[in-house]
Amino acid sequence: MIYADNAATTKMSKAAIEAMLPYMDEVYGNPSSLYSFGQDAKEALENARARIAACIGCDAREVTFTSGGSEADNQAIITAAHLGARKGKKHIISTAFEHHAVLHTLDKLKKEGFEVTLLDVHDTGAVTAEEVLAAVREDTCLVTIMYANNEIGTIQPIAEIGAALKDKDVIFHTDAVQAAGHLHIDVKEQNIDMLSISAHKFHGPKGIGVLYTRTGIRLETIISGGAQERGKRAGTENIPAIMGMAKALEDAVANIDANASRLSALRDRLIEGLDKIPYGELNGNNDNRLPSNVNFCFEGIEGESLLLLLDDKGICASSGSACTSGSLDPSHVLLAIGRPHEVAHGSLRLSLGEDTTEEDVDYIIEAVTDVVTYLRNMSPFWRDLTTGKREHVFAE
Ligand SMILES: *Cc1c(COP(=O)(O)O)cnc(C)c1O
Repeated sequence: MIYADNAATTKMSKAAIEAMLPYMDEVYGNPSSLYSFGQDAKEALENARARIAACIGCDAREVTFTSGGSEADNQAIITAAHLGARKGKKHIISTAFEHHAVLHTLDKLKKEGFEVTLLDVHDTGAVTAEEVLAAVREDTCLVTIMYANNEIGTIQPIAEIGAALKDKDVIFHTDAVQAAGHLHIDVKEQNIDMLSISAHKFHGPKGIGVLYTRTGIRLETIISGGAQERGKRAGTENIPAIMGMAKALEDAVANIDANASRLSALRDRLIEGLDKIPYGELNGNNDNRLPSNVNFCFEGIEGESLLLLLDDKGICASSGSACTSGSLDPSHVLLAIGRPHEVAHGSLRLSLGEDTTEEDVDYIIEAVTDVVTYLRNMSPFWRDLTTGKREHVFAE
């Protein structure tokens, strides 16, 4: 099997698994307990917090553990919005191609009377800092823009946006779930106020994440109960997962440059190979893209059929995001970069990982080329294109 869906989730590293094990069967105490056995768990928890803080350039007290990226996004956005509302500021800026954890939270806030501006991400898949700054109003309380897009892999100018917003009375949050462990993050240098990460996107366990919150921003509680996480997130801490996440993040950050150069070479080889398929086009700009991400649209095919036939050939890939697969709507991300509906349906995301080899890439190129040709030969829609009844969207 060739696993090319690392943007959906990753395999846990052996080191991360090993880092978790002692906290399941040896140091299993509750960190809130006063006896020393519980305090051993507490010590491990605080040690992990400090190590994670060091990976993103913040203070340990600014790290809150959550159940993952979705919860971190929810808590960040709701916190910033409600802090703004107390000052009469109810305008939020985001982009049209955020993760649903962001977009659906913004929809909820709209029902509370917030106004949301979704910036255009153009066909490049990126905004500019100038566009963000131009959208800021007197009543803007929050800018939430993802670090890197989970479908098309395009990277936003986060440091420039942070610098542009630095002197504004606006909270800058970024969903960095696709970036953490893959791109350099330094929240202080980049002037980021709040940032979400999730362990299972960098070879850590599922169901654990971090919300970084700059000192001075008072987090709003989403999960109420005990006083864990300084009273901002109730629930007994998932110590094994936290230990696994800390180890996975440290390893990813230590190898970030080596991984990036190896992966981007494979990515470019894959893009070059798939580019030879006629009437297909890369989604998003390749100059500013996650080292692991390849995303194409092919005319005259359905992404779902493509995925099933690739599965028969032993390739795990994705079309649209995992959350939207299974629905008939085309990906909101592809629509946001201006792909017409009929083309957006024929998308393919391949996200490479540490295990991917050059042979894998060559096999994928061959398999995708074969399957696209096969599907087009069966498609009445494709026949209309070849006979000129319909117009092509892409050049050959
Ligand atoms: C995966 C992902 C999330 C959700 O993270 P979970 O830990 O699965 O809740 C949020 N944002 C982006 C960009 C993602 O890729």
